[in-house]
Amino acid sequence: MKKVFVKSYGCQMNVYDAERMADMLASEGYSETGAMEEADLVILNTCHIREKAAEKVYSELGRVRELKKERQGQGQETKIVVAGCVAQAEGKEILRRAPAVDVVVGPQNYHNLPQLLAKARTERVVDTEFPIEDKFDHLPRPSKAAIRNRGVSAFLTIQEGCDKFCTFCVVPYTRGAEVSRPVSKILDEALRLADAGVRELTLIGQNVNAYHGEGPDGSVWSLGRLLHRLAEIPGIARLRYTTSHPRDMDDELIAAHRDLPALMPYLHLPVQSGSDRILDAMNRKHTGDEYRRLIARIREAQPNLALSSDFIVGFPGETDAEFEDTMRLIADVGFASSFSFKYSPRPGTPAAEIETQVPEAVKAERLARLQNLLETQRQAFNHGTVGQTLDVLLEKPGRHPGQMAGKSPYLQAVQIETDSHGIGDVVTVRITRAGSNSLFGEVVRSGDQAAA
Ligand code: SAM
Ligand code: SF4
Repeated sequence: MKKVFVKSYGCQMNVYDAERMADMLASEGYSETGAMEEADLVILNTCHIREKAAEKVYSELGRVRELKKERQGQGQETKIVVAGCVAQAEGKEILRRAPAVDVVVGPQNYHNLPQLLAKARTERVVDTEFPIEDKFDHLPRPSKAAIRNRGVSAFLTIQEGCDKFCTFCVVPYTRGAEVSRPVSKILDEALRLADAGVRELTLIGQNVNAYHGEGPDGSVWSLGRLLHRLAEIPGIARLRYTTSHPRDMDDELIAAHRDLPALMPYLHLPVQSGSDRILDAMNRKHTGDEYRRLIARIREAQPNLALSSDFIVGFPGETDAEFEDTMRLIADVGFASSFSFKYSPRPGTPAAEIETQVPEAVKAERLARLQNLLETQRQAFNHGTVGQTLDVLLEKPGRHPGQMAGKSPYLQAVQIETDSHGIGDVVTVRITRAGSNSLFGEVVRSGDQAAA
């Protein structure tokens, strides 16, 4: 059996795509390996969102080329594939800069991998066309064993691409226009995942709450309606969705946070900035106060809601006062967790053309202050859960014998002592202590057991 090593960078969409590539190659006789040195096929599933992400890929390619040479010396062949958004954006340029690469394949084309690999026996190939057909229709179904191996929490892509064109972002160019998968295909995949023991589904998409897929009756379903249907699937205990845009939080979705116990009270809703002028320049199409009011409405529907967000500091032209607006918004809203980045100019995006770029040192100083505040909020949130009773989905054995590790509704890692519960059980836990990255607790009720 040949071996494939897949390394994924960036977002959850890439994690999902990497799994689909592995499923596809399993039916071509490849087994997955975690050791690049023994791989006959190395796939780098790349991210183009920030400059460093692309540069990391080129330096990794240098290492893979050395490996390819070494294996060649031992009479073994290694094929190198660059997939994902750097592949889409750079195309042929990758073949020029990295002569060891055999195949470059965009995120909409990886269902063609078997044919591309066959072609790569004689020539180096690039496939970055946006195809008419849906790649999901061409992907093989993973085996029950493969699903089980990946754990009780699974990603499920329901939407791809983006039509929002935020001025800093490459996604609309690398992932293409927004497309929602039909409800029947999503249900089919969700049922198979549940049947293999998956307890938690995270619906993913670049703009997941813009979902508007065709329902079984031909009508258009919103994300709120889809969540209601998925919550009916036996075995599915938890639902999440990411990443959302504030503009697409409609009434039906907000009501789902009130009405669906399976929908976790945790929402990743990126705001990027707290300054109205910067939000406008980013083309986000909402103000800081509109975001605050939206959060108040969702919290009214779901009082236990915890939030996470993405922030960009040093967007072109951002003044000290505008940065302080972001700090104020963070203080007003309160986040349980967050991702924050220095603005990184992406070729081809409108913001990269703005002349007043913020100096690197200013960006670094702002990022440090912002991350300090966010970290204080994260720690405060974690400590605030001490003494509370939370449901924990058990995902794996803990650090020590007799321990199990799982996740709270707020995606916090929780360690418990137990010898009577297994992976996939949802147990009710009283949180006794908060460490810097994990919570610790004791079981107070057995709750919902995973199917045997
Ligand atoms: N669709 C999501 C949204 O609307 O917020 C975000 C998707 S993007 C993959 C993830 C995050 O990367 C963004 O929320 C943003 O904070 C960050 N990001 C995107 N482009 C960036 C850039 N040019 N520089 C720095 N951060 C960027
Ligand atoms: Fe990028 Fe904006 Fe689309 Fe999110 S909504 S993927 S940040 S263009």
